[in-house]
Amino acid sequence: MEPKSAKLIELSQIIVQSLSDYSIFKIINDTLQKELKKLNIKMHGGTQEIGGSCIGVETECCKIALDYGIKIDENNPKQLPTDFDAVVISHAHLDHSGSLLNLSNAKPVIIGSKMTRDVTIELLLDMIKIQNKKGKIYTHNNHHVEIIRRNWWSRNSTALPGMSIKLYPAGHVAGAKITHVQSEGKQILYTGDFCVHNTEILDGCNIKKLPKKPDLLITESTYGGKIREDRNKLVEYFFDKLRNTIEKKGNILIPTFAFHRSQEMCKRIDQAMKEGIIPRYKVYTISNLAKKITGFFNENKEYFRTEIQLQEKPFKYKHVKHLYRTSQIKEPAIVICTAGFGHAGASLHLLTKWGTNSNNSIIVTSGYLPPESPLNLAKQNKEFTYKKRMIQVEAEVEQIELSGHADQKELIQLVNSVKPKKTILIHGELEQAKTLAKEIAEISEVIIPEKNEIINV
Ligand SMILES: [Zn+2]
Repeated sequence: MEPKSAKLIELSQIIVQSLSDYSIFKIINDTLQKELKKLNIKMHGGTQEIGGSCIGVETECCKIALDYGIKIDENNPKQLPTDFDAVVISHAHLDHSGSLLNLSNAKPVIIGSKMTRDVTIELLLDMIKIQNKKGKIYTHNNHHVEIIRRNWWSRNSTALPGMSIKLYPAGHVAGAKITHVQSEGKQILYTGDFCVHNTEILDGCNIKKLPKKPDLLITESTYGGKIREDRNKLVEYFFDKLRNTIEKKGNILIPTFAFHRSQEMCKRIDQAMKEGIIPRYKVYTISNLAKKITGFFNENKEYFRTEIQLQEKPFKYKHVKHLYRTSQIKEPAIVICTAGFGHAGASLHLLTKWGTNSNNSIIVTSGYLPPESPLNLAKQNKEFTYKKRMIQVEAEVEQIELSGHADQKELIQLVNSVKPKKTILIHGELEQAKTLAKEIAEISEVIIPEKNEIINV
């Protein structure tokens, strides 16, 4: 296929040959050059909210998408366009990758780390299982997942027609990448989800190593308006809460995500028990998906911090036992289980069972909770409805944000270091984005786009 730009170049040459007046030629040529250098960004999803991240990057020769997510709590989501040459997946969270099965016909190249590929594949298979269980007629099956796997390029540098793509470690979760796109003489840097601080198992993003002065920085703004407390203090506070409930011989529910947060939490508790920071207690994880992902973690140690890499099987825990169902729990215990928002699975079951007793506690470590999620209702209103029954929550519900997202301080640090000409704030509620926009307005021009907005770079 001949790119449109080649036709425009040919046209400009014919015009040059037929023109004797240089000034007229220059005006026409400049206009054509401008046209040739067109690089448009289209916000398909994830603007002024968290969920369904997808940004189109379009030139005359190439059309790609940065992330291809789903809005988890949306019943009839609008389908994203499918006519992309390539799709870059920043990391395996479904709000960045969950619509991929819709590309199984169009079969674009999918770019992302090997860890992102392996985990995304598992999450997509799990999504199909959940949909089938719900009895919904789901148009996708395991064959479509296989197509996605086959079209995946797990490399850090990729060349496409008139475009080059490079990936940099983002922190956040294992395998997460920051994407650098170069095309038409312009540079775009897309953070996906990222964090600068190190966690127990993962190094934060080294922002000094990111390309400088891009024409456009597209960044998440989940915590655009928030400065988090020192992480070590938060971890101390978390252990305090565990000790308090252990003293009362209560049960502790820690709803978490099967990918990364579950392994990070197990490692944190396992290590603390080994070191005598918290007393020995029964600790369980319940999630087959988490177990499978833990296997990937043990086999791909290169994604983690040096001290983790030095351990033979870093995610084989001494004090944490894997269970297949909640009936196997020997109380009192600490249980780390899915779903992270407490809206399904073992989390919802145990939230209902343990939530009514004041000796128990529920510890939420995610910063964001969907407003209508049982966990959020348990925390805010001390009650929620389950199977048409009102559950009164007596257990302590504590939110300790051991999040993998950059907070306002880290976001400003990024903008300060990278010095972009323009910054687009996405993946954050409007108030968060607006607060951050004020903080970085002197460093960069800031845009908080709306859905479907087109921005010319
Ligand atoms: Zn994420």
